Amino acid sequence: MIRDSFNRVHNYLRISLTDNCNLRCFYCMPEEEYLFTPTSKLMQCSEIEALATTFVAAGVNKIRLTGGEPLVRHDAADIILTLAKLPVELTMTTNGTRLHKFIDVLNEAGVRSLNISLDTLNHEKFNKVTRRNQFDSVLENIQLCLENGFHVKVNVVVMKGLNDYELIDFVAWTKSTPVDVRFIEFMPFTGNRWTNNQVMTLNEILQVISDRYDFSSVDRKAHDTAKRFRVPGHVGTFGVISTMSSHFCSDCNRMRLTADGKLKNCLFSNGETDLLTALRNGQQILPLIHQTIAAKHFQLGGQMTTDFGEIDADKILNRSMITIGG
Ligand code: SAM
Ligand code: SF4
Repeated sequence: MIRDSFNRVHNYLRISLTDNCNLRCFYCMPEEEYLFTPTSKLMQCSEIEALATTFVAAGVNKIRLTGGEPLVRHDAADIILTLAKLPVELTMTTNGTRLHKFIDVLNEAGVRSLNISLDTLNHEKFNKVTRRNQFDSVLENIQLCLENGFHVKVNVVVMKGLNDYELIDFVAWTKSTPVDVRFIEFMPFTGNRWTNNQVMTLNEILQVISDRYDFSSVDRKAHDTAKRFRVPGHVGTFGVISTMSSHFCSDCNRMRLTADGKLKNCLFSNGETDLLTALRNGQQILPLIHQTIAAKHFQLGGQMTTDFGEIDADKILNRSMITIGG
């Protein structure tokens, strides 16, 4: 078991496959000239397998592949099928643009649930947020995944003045579409020009939705990041990932491995441990994992206050989101 000093068992590993992406969401990857990590510095398929196997032997039973965009990696299918041999629940977070090429692989790998990001139901707004013209592919692929029996969660980063007017449209979408929409509070990462007045909080989101809909809470499962709700008669649900206004660190079970093989004990940690170099040098990995998780702070990486109005984003030492893996 991998435990931190607060006795939280860490059994969930998120592995970023790449910091490359075919979209350019402005809150995630700020600069157009962003330099992607060269392939030689990324974990190779066999290295991902070796590291993941070590984590699984230490108690990990759930792995999420993320990025960057995991499905732009040329050997994504090999990695998915390799990790599928491990005794874990395998899932993925993807921007959805390339899912149609991977449906068979994901089925073969036993993946049952996918998180697909879609911040707007408006084509033009999508182009503005992502700086790419892929709206139709994402919507079509969400439909394709539903038709193929996948459980689909739709990630929506909500920002004031950007897409906050679409909350009702997203909830209306859940009437006859069996998706779990998750509104995510905008979070600060290196280079994303976060300011507190852009954050649409859990309470603000619920207030807007309650003006139009009655809804009730869905029971929370251990380690859930989203507080979930259902409108009576809707086949889908909506939820809020309220990292900024009401965090859920107390039962955190998540660890993150960046595409260049660094272990982060928290999304907001300022430290990381280089597992890939250790692996390449033939060092023992397990002690490094235990040390890293033992050093985990209780909440928000130990460097953000729970009063997000007081956060100075420039003082947070971290990576950009695209190099962490959400
Ligand atoms: N490319 C994939 C995707 O877009 O789903 C996986 C990687 S992306 C970094 C993972 C998730 O993080 C996405 O749902 C994205 O919207 C979210 N995200 C990125 N930057 C964020 C931020 N600053 N605040 C909140 N969520 C963010
Ligand atoms: Fe790419 Fe996902 Fe970041 Fe958008 S949120 S730039 S799709 S990694």
